[in-house]
Amino acid sequence: MPERSVEKAPGSITTEMNGSRKLYVKSFGCQMNVYDSRRMADTLAPQGYIETSAAADADLIILNTCHIREKAVEKVYSELGRVRRLKEAAAAEGRRLVIAVAGCVAQAEGEEIIRRAPAVDLVFGPQSYHRLPDLLARAERDGKAVDTEFPVDDKFDHLAAPSFAAMRARGVSAFVTVQEGCDKFCTFCVVPYTRGSEISRPVAKILAEVKRLAEAGVREVTLIGQNVNAYHGEGPDGRPWSLARLLDRVAQVDGVDRLRYTTSHPRDVDNDLIAAHRDLPKLMPQLHLPVQSGSDRILAAMNRRHTRADYVGLVSRLLAARPDLALSSDFIVGFPGETEEDFAATLGLVGEIGYASAFSFKYSPRPGTPGAEMDDQVEEATKSDRLHRLQAAIDCNQEAFNRRYLDRTLDVLFERPGRYSGQLVGRSPYLQPVQVRAPAALIGEIAAVTITEIASNSLFGALAHAPAREPALLGAGA
Ligand code: SF4
Repeated sequence: MPERSVEKAPGSITTEMNGSRKLYVKSFGCQMNVYDSRRMADTLAPQGYIETSAAADADLIILNTCHIREKAVEKVYSELGRVRRLKEAAAAEGRRLVIAVAGCVAQAEGEEIIRRAPAVDLVFGPQSYHRLPDLLARAERDGKAVDTEFPVDDKFDHLAAPSFAAMRARGVSAFVTVQEGCDKFCTFCVVPYTRGSEISRPVAKILAEVKRLAEAGVREVTLIGQNVNAYHGEGPDGRPWSLARLLDRVAQVDGVDRLRYTTSHPRDVDNDLIAAHRDLPKLMPQLHLPVQSGSDRILAAMNRRHTRADYVGLVSRLLAARPDLALSSDFIVGFPGETEEDFAATLGLVGEIGYASAFSFKYSPRPGTPGAEMDDQVEEATKSDRLHRLQAAIDCNQEAFNRRYLDRTLDVLFERPGRYSGQLVGRSPYLQPVQVRAPAALIGEIAAVTITEIASNSLFGALAHAPAREPALLGAGA
């Protein structure tokens, strides 16, 4: 990893005390944040920052926050209380620990974070990651720095590419951001306010990133975006390309054997994308397609811009294209005005679709969103009761889906060692975690596994064939 010496006074933010500084990044929330955290680390690597997994050793702590989950802001402030104590301990040792808050809570709260948590040195939103080195210098010069602008420049053009070593260390499955922001304005969601309007990266830049990942041993790529299937990046012909066209092109990259994409809005699934599920063997038979509610009345109040019938029709077209498609979804219970009848429609939809898995949450108002202003908020106890019933229904779906694969053989991409010695964990094409006794050299390989046991959240199996080559000769991807 390149290291650069910067001559400054001891204890200053940009001083390298011993040639490198330690960076601890804690990610909250979705895959977009995990990806962003990695890109922040890549951007700081040329400044001499090396990632550490021990917050107490760090010279710079970044909390990359998420605003989606319940009590997100409170959780950030309580985390900042813990981090402040680390800063005090570092100061007692004569070290300066810089604390930064990034992500959607930073975007939404801005300077309020520094007012409530004075130990914080730096606050910056999701569109400012590429300016991190400058922001650190500003915080050093001025004491504090806040950057929550939506700049006109494309941050992806300025983010440093990960080093080959960093890519290898991150494993055989990688996320690549292709789209960011959202123009849908669902009435419960802060994303359009914290991430801004939709932007798509050009095809050439995505392909360059995917090729580098493949060269570093990545076998599975997940294209991510807040509303990924609204992708409309510039193609090599100068015209906007759809997600389907992008997937087709990424599938041609040597070394990439599996493709996925997330998260999709039902309104933006077009015919070409449905056809891609039929025609692209590398596109895995799994799709996360959030619906949020099964009631048309609530879907309208959420401004989802589709009806239950639209969604069910879309699912049947997808299943016609790819009959074994594993569907997952997001649900919100207790949205303002949700009656028992509305909730029953949601339960009915879960039964009708037969999801492989789903995330479900109680509605919690986000300041600044229309939902937070609605009069008919639902009682907390009612929300809890509905969530409990919905999760029981989802669990039944998941178990039924997994049970289909008992005694069947699935191709598993091995990702990492399991909890127990001699065990590896991989993913089936349907994204199920699969635990198998297998040699460590199979990490990065795809092997046939016969499923022998089903647990609530994962499958267990045995290699269907002995490794074709001596394990020591097999190339591990990470
Ligand atoms: S489509 Fe998704 S990201 Fe966009 S506003 Fe709705 S829930 Fe939020």
